[in-house]
Order: sequence, then structure tokens, then C-alpha cells
Amino acid sequence: MEKSEEKLNITVDVDSKSGFCYGVVKAIRQAENYLEKSDRLYSLGAIVHNNTELSRLGEKGMEVIDHNRLGNLKDSVVFIRAHGEPPSTYDTAKGNNLRIIDCTCPVVLKLQQRIKESHKLLSHKGGTILIFGNRGHAEVNGLIGQVDGDAVIIEKIKDLDQVDYTKPVAIFSQTTKDPSEYAEVIAGIKERISAAGGNLNDFKSNNTICRQVSSRHPHLKQFSASHSVILFVSGRESSNGKVLFETCESVNKRCFKIERADEIKREWFEHGDNVGICGATSTPMWLLEEIAAALREL
Ligand code: SF4
Repeated sequence: MEKSEEKLNITVDVDSKSGFCYGVVKAIRQAENYLEKSDRLYSLGAIVHNNTELSRLGEKGMEVIDHNRLGNLKDSVVFIRAHGEPPSTYDTAKGNNLRIIDCTCPVVLKLQQRIKESHKLLSHKGGTILIFGNRGHAEVNGLIGQVDGDAVIIEKIKDLDQVDYTKPVAIFSQTTKDPSEYAEVIAGIKERISAAGGNLNDFKSNNTICRQVSSRHPHLKQFSASHSVILFVSGRESSNGKVLFETCESVNKRCFKIERADEIKREWFEHGDNVGICGATSTPMWLLEEIAAALREL
């Protein structure tokens, strides 16, 4: 952070509703419990998309690995994060004599089961499962893996054009997507069913966006509108961080996204600003407080 002689005299509020969601809290607690007794835990993918929190856990012995490394790892303990994994990961672990600490969030676990059940019903009728989510995202890989890849990933409205709407269709959303975008996708499907002469009764839309995320949208709009500047704290890789930041920006143009306190720039602020600090579901509250303390020094 740049230093200056004159204090800016800004007020700073940390959003009390930000911080980790319960799925991430639970996962981190379980990892820390294990690391109290052991000095090495392999995490399949980053436990949170937040480098500061990852370094903290890294110092305790957590090592992040990818699926290639998992394939070569033997006789070790592997942590599965809240995003969940496809069945193939469990098969690899079994074959390599790996013990799994499974921290798949219960919300994601339930979604995986629902997709599997829906696929069973629809596959008899030639229907299609759609997953509204980001291709390659860990949670989406885990979801599509439940049906051996037999689902269509919808990233954008135009992806809807590849589906046969004369047959039954069911859609599920990745847990961290934007509810208003999901509503647009659902409306797009209904239009296409009508245009194709399909039956709207054969379409099932499932509301599977996590409430821990969806409830933050209206709250963050209010929080962003009631502050002159917003500092949104999130790892650059975080999917819900990207979505929630866009929500803040939709009501306050003076929004800045940072990952750490040393990214703060003094020129973002004016004398007397009222700054709100908030973050993604993978941003720890201690980091928001650390950033607030740094701001108060400006
Ligand atoms: S955002 Fe929701 S689904 Fe994702 S880890 Fe948190 S509680 Fe679980």
C-alpha cells in the first residue's frame, strides 16, 4: 500500500454477512483437525480459492495436488473439498489405497444425488439433463461425473440450441451461479420448448443454487448501495467471487476487487469516503478484518 502524510479520514465497515459459508467452514475445520495429528494432508484441488488462506493451511502441512498427482499417489490421506468429486476419483483412491477425508458440502452431495436420480428417469424417455454451470469447474466436473458425462453443460443461452426439446428436459444449476442468470436460462428453455412443439409439462427446472449464495445477492446490493466505495475481497479463481462482485458493481461503480491488503491503492479513495468491505463465500472473515485495519491507516 502506498503511504501518504495526510490521513484520508474514511469510515470502514466490514459486512457481517460475508465470510466463509458453512460448507467451507466445515471443510476447513475438518482439515485443521486432521493436521493437528498429522503433518501432511493432500488436498485434491485448492480447499478455497483464496491464496492467503491456502498459505495459512500450507504452513500446517496441507499440500494441494491435482488429479494427475492423485493417480500416482499411494497409501496416503487425501482430502476432498466442498466442491465434490466424480465417482472416478473415488475409484482411483480405492485402487491406490488412499484414505479419503470427504468434505463434499452436503448441499453439493444432495445435488449430485438429484442429478443421478433424474438421469435414471429421463434416460428411459430419451430426455436430456442440463447443467447450468462453468465447464471445467470442479463442482461441475463432479456433477456431470454422476451421469458418466451424459448431460449438457449450459454456460450461455446459445448453448441451449443443441438440445432436443421434443423430449423431456431437466435442468440443475451449479450451486454458486447467479439466480437472475439462471432465471433467464429457464425462460430460454421454455421458449424453445414452445417453438419446437414440445410439452412444457415434460420440463423440470430445479432450484439448486445454494441459499448461502443466493441470499447474499440482495444483501450485497443493499450493502454496496449504502457505501461510497466497495472493496470486494476474493481469490481470482473463485466462481462465486466473480458473480457476487458483479452484483456489487451493478449498484456501485466504485467497486474494487482485491485478494490481499497490499493491493489496496490510495487513489481509489477520497476524503470522507464511507468504505464497505465484503467478500465471497471462500473469503475468510479474518482477511476482511485485516483489510479493514489497513484501510483505517490510510
Ligand atoms: S456455497 Fe453452499 S454449496 Fe457451496 S460450499 Fe458453501 S454451503 Fe456448500
